[in-house]
Amino acid sequence: MGVLGGGQLGRMLAVAAARLGIRTAVYAPEADPPAGQVAARHVRGGWDDAEALRRFAEGCDVVTLEWENVPLAALGTCAAAATVRPAARAVAAAQDRLEEKRFLAGLGLEVAPFAAVDDAASLEAALARIGAPAILKTRRLGYDGKGQARIGAAEDAAAALAAMAGAEAILEGLVRFRSEVSVVAARGADGRVVCFDPAENLHEGGILRRSTAPAALSPTRETQARAAAEAILSALDFVGVMGVELFETETGFVVNEIAPRVHNTGHWTLDACLIDQFEQHVRAVCGWPLGDGARHSDAVMTNLIGEEAAEWSELAADPALALHLYGKAEVRPGRKMGHVTRLSPRR
Ligand code: AMP
Repeated sequence: MGVLGGGQLGRMLAVAAARLGIRTAVYAPEADPPAGQVAARHVRGGWDDAEALRRFAEGCDVVTLEWENVPLAALGTCAAAATVRPAARAVAAAQDRLEEKRFLAGLGLEVAPFAAVDDAASLEAALARIGAPAILKTRRLGYDGKGQARIGAAEDAAAALAAMAGAEAILEGLVRFRSEVSVVAARGADGRVVCFDPAENLHEGGILRRSTAPAALSPTRETQARAAAEAILSALDFVGVMGVELFETETGFVVNEIAPRVHNTGHWTLDACLIDQFEQHVRAVCGWPLGDGARHSDAVMTNLIGEEAAEWSELAADPALALHLYGKAEVRPGRKMGHVTRLSPRR
C-alpha cells in the first residue's frame, strides 16, 4: 500500500497495515516524516515530481492518501501505475470549498449560505446577500482554521479580504450550531458503507481540541447524521474512510465540510473499537471486507498540541489514558504532536 503524505495520519495507517501483514510505502517531500519512521519504504519527492511519483507507485498495488490536497496531477501519475483509492474525482470534490458546497447542496443536504468571493466588489455583494456575521475562507488549502477570517460587521470586510492574500475565497454565513458532530465513515470497494458512531467535537482557535464518542444525539438525529455521510460517500463512489463534519442546529444538520481521508475526530476509534478507522481504511482500499466499526467503550480523545506533548511522562503514568505520540522532532505552536484517549464503559 502506498500512502501519499507523511504525517501522523499516514503513520497510523502504516501501523494498521503492518498489523494486517501489509507493507506500506510513504511518499512525502520531508526528510524524516512521521509516517516514514514506521513504513517499509519512504520515497522523498515533491508533489510535482512525476518521475519520483511514478517510481513510488510502480512499487505499490494500491495507492491512497493521508492529505486531501495532494495535487490531482500527482494522483493521475500514480493511477497510471497502481490502483488509486479514493479516486481523484472523489478527492477533487473536497479540495475546493466552493465546489464542495455545490456538490453537497446538490445532494439535497443543508449547507451554510455561501457565495464566491474574488475581490472587494464580490465580497460586498456576498455580504449584502448573506449578511454578517460571516466567515471568509480561502477556497483551497485551508486547514485547522488557517486561511479564514471572521467578519463580525461590514467594516471588517477589507481586513478579511486582505487576509486571503489574493487567493480565491468563499463567504459563508455563520451557522448558529448547538454542537459540532462528525461521522467517520468507510465505504468498501463493493459499495458497502459502515459508519463509526458520530462524535461530538470541540474546536479552539479552529483546531480540534476534543472529540467525545458517542455524541449526545437523539436516535432520529443519529440516523440523519449517518444517512448524510452514507449519501456523500455513495454519490462520490468513494472507496476508503472519509470524515464528514456537521453542525447540529435546532432543526437538523448543516454539513460543514468533508475530508477524503482518515480524520482527527476518528482517533478515538483506535482505543474504543475492535476495528479502528485506520484499519478500516486499509481494508477498504485493499479490497478487504470492512469491519463492523462497533464501539466497545465510550471515549474522550484530546489532542496534544504544541508544548502540551512535553507532559508525556505524566500522561503515560495515568492508567486510564491511552497515549499516542506522532514522532515529530520539532514542536511548533498549533502543531498536533499526539493525542490521549480516556475510555469509560459503554453506556
Ligand atoms: P473549517 O476549517 O471550515 O472546518 O472551520 C473550522 C471551525 O470553524 C469549524 O469546526 C467551526 O467551529 C468553525 N466554523 C467554520 N465555518 C463555520 C460556519 N459557517 N459557521 C459557524 N462556524 C464555523
